[in-house]
Amino acid sequence: MTSVKAYAAQAADKPLAPFSIDRREPGPDDVEIKILYCGVCHSDIHTARGEWGGTVYPAVPGHEIVGKVTRVGENVTRFKEGDTVGVGCFVDSCMHCVNCEADLEQYCLNGHTQTYNSLTQDKQSITLGGYSSHIVVTQHFVLSVSDKLPLEKVAPLLCAGITTYSPLRHWNVKAGDKLAVVGLGGLGHMAVKLAASMGAEVTMLSRSKSKEKDASELGAHHFKLTTDKDTMAELAGSFDIIINTVSAQHDYNEYLNLLKTDGVMVLLGAPPQPTPVGAFPLIMGRRTLAGSLVGGIKETQEMLDYCAEHNITSDVEVISIDKINEAYERTLAGDVHYRFVIDMATL
Ligand code: NAP
Ligand code: ZN
Repeated sequence: MTSVKAYAAQAADKPLAPFSIDRREPGPDDVEIKILYCGVCHSDIHTARGEWGGTVYPAVPGHEIVGKVTRVGENVTRFKEGDTVGVGCFVDSCMHCVNCEADLEQYCLNGHTQTYNSLTQDKQSITLGGYSSHIVVTQHFVLSVSDKLPLEKVAPLLCAGITTYSPLRHWNVKAGDKLAVVGLGGLGHMAVKLAASMGAEVTMLSRSKSKEKDASELGAHHFKLTTDKDTMAELAGSFDIIINTVSAQHDYNEYLNLLKTDGVMVLLGAPPQPTPVGAFPLIMGRRTLAGSLVGGIKETQEMLDYCAEHNITSDVEVISIDKINEAYERTLAGDVHYRFVIDMATL
């Protein structure tokens, strides 16, 4: 075991604070990584504050990790000391169920191990995430990161990037599709960039008028204010696909009505509370309400390579780790442009 520095929440109602954690010595298949940057996802906040239930304290969030390899085990062939690598939302899975074999480890039928607050595969401990100086991850779950792009802007691709890329690919988004993104935060801004890069006609649906100019700079072709009833009425039946990234409870029915016949709304946002869905917004127009969880390892590598090729990164505000509690408050207030990223050298 190596003792490393971290930031942890000790309870749902306590701010994050410095904490020391143990990392395992790298086994034969392990990669030890010195973390350079870690993005701040809204899921970190849901977990640190116990909003989804089941948080085990002390909790160390962080699943948008970019760093350098410091040590590798004897079976590791894909990575060597000094390589630039990434770690996303999960660090292990059973590797033999039908979903793992289909490169869908995030839907592992025996339960995947998330990067933080998750049971390890041997069920002996709970994972601790990227708000820490080092992490040790089995090689299959480590991603190669191009040195071509600024690494602080790459970190958010490991969750916000893949979470939005995966449904765009699964639902085959292509040139000319009319696509809407709901909520302009970390996920939302990546959805806009990626969908626009695939040729979709992108409409930003936001409750924040102040984000209109940014939405256009990110690549959205239209901006519509969701708080305006007349606008929402005019948009009925407009979209082939809606990517919904809203983190708080809201009325899904209002947005389902904006879909064309056979349109689909994909839920990415994970509000803790359930929301009633009426039959009629679905029946009228054979519409689909779907969900999607991050993306598998193979697809995450594909997304990183796609972003390197198309020069797509996240718009970030780099913070020192002592500003993490302030960053949480600003994220909750919708004041994030468009991802906070922790410079881990400040730990
Ligand atoms: P974020 O940066 O806080 O963005 C969320 C956006 O939702 C806000 O910027 C805001 O956009 C909108 N919003 C927030 N509260 C709202 C409300 N009460 N009513 C309407 N709109 C509201 O969060 P994020 O990091 O992008 O994460 C978004 C959600 O996705 C979280 O629930 C997170 O846990 C979840 N998530 C899911 C996955 C997955 O695999 N499915 C992966 C990562 C994260 P406007 O100001 O533009 O309205
Ligand atoms: Zn995330």
